[in-house]
Amino acid sequence: MRAMELDEPGRPLRLVQRELPEPGEGEIRIAVTACGVCRTDLHVADGEIHGILPIIPGHEIVGRVDALGAGVTAFARGDRVGVPWLGRTCGNCRYCLSGRENLCDSPLFTGFTRDGGFASHCIADAAFCFSLPQRMNDADAAPLLCAGLIGYRSYRMAGDAGVIGLYGFGAAAHILAQLAVWEGRKVCAFTREGDAAGQDFARRLGCAWAGASTAMPPEPLDAAIVFAPVGALVPAALKAVRKGGRVVCAGIHMSDIPAFPYADLWEERSIRSVANLTRADGREFLELAAKAALRTHVTQLPLEDANIALARVRSGGVEGAMVLVP
Ligand SMILES: [Zn+2]
Ligand SMILES: [Zn+2]
Repeated sequence: MRAMELDEPGRPLRLVQRELPEPGEGEIRIAVTACGVCRTDLHVADGEIHGILPIIPGHEIVGRVDALGAGVTAFARGDRVGVPWLGRTCGNCRYCLSGRENLCDSPLFTGFTRDGGFASHCIADAAFCFSLPQRMNDADAAPLLCAGLIGYRSYRMAGDAGVIGLYGFGAAAHILAQLAVWEGRKVCAFTREGDAAGQDFARRLGCAWAGASTAMPPEPLDAAIVFAPVGALVPAALKAVRKGGRVVCAGIHMSDIPAFPYADLWEERSIRSVANLTRADGREFLELAAKAALRTHVTQLPLEDANIALARVRSGGVEGAMVLVP
């Protein structure tokens, strides 16, 4: 198999050849056909979060099952599957036992603590893989598996907001904006100052307003989701939400949040983070994605160009999501 491997944070990924891995009990081997590039992959490559090394990043994997481990009955060879960030949970910690497997005490995360999908093949636990909406091709479906799915968990945490603000209009926001519009909500999109192309993209997807993240929306927000890894956006979003409003931080890593006056949090505004996903989130979201006919905008690059793809995510300005094709 071919893979793009991270040996050390801060260094480019390196193309490696490995023996094809054999799936163990409960596992499947997947011939990867597409893998999305998430900002989390960038945090891993840059050493802002620490899993295991060396590692093959990538946790928005679409492919075909090409070998089954012992005991796997849910999938057959040739089936199309999607592999998300949550690769395995222990099944018996307090979180697993209370419907919060996203917070499991001893999880495996795809492309972080277990090899991921920047590769021609990968191994995954069958019980954590998803079937995908039929009408989407592999590359288009890949961003659903994290940008869509963890974005959706954040969206649900935002509650039944009639007016919702999305800070950072990247891969996740471009999917969740469509869902929010489909559900009849008003969406305000916040981008970097001067990002006219990003704001135009947001309007084309149905956002009622798009502007700079430093601007105030035309009306107070009921809730905001901060997708960009920029701590300064948290107090900015707090100022933009009405009394009782929520600010949800969707990322795994963010720069420090600057100090802000207590008055901005007062009146029952709240801030919370969202971590990982549960399989129930995944099933619910993928069903909705099909029903709402969500579409993704992807730019495809060959697997070997993983470093270019990461650089483009780092510099911003990607319309939708980057996807690697082996
Ligand atoms: Zn657990
Ligand atoms: Zn991700």
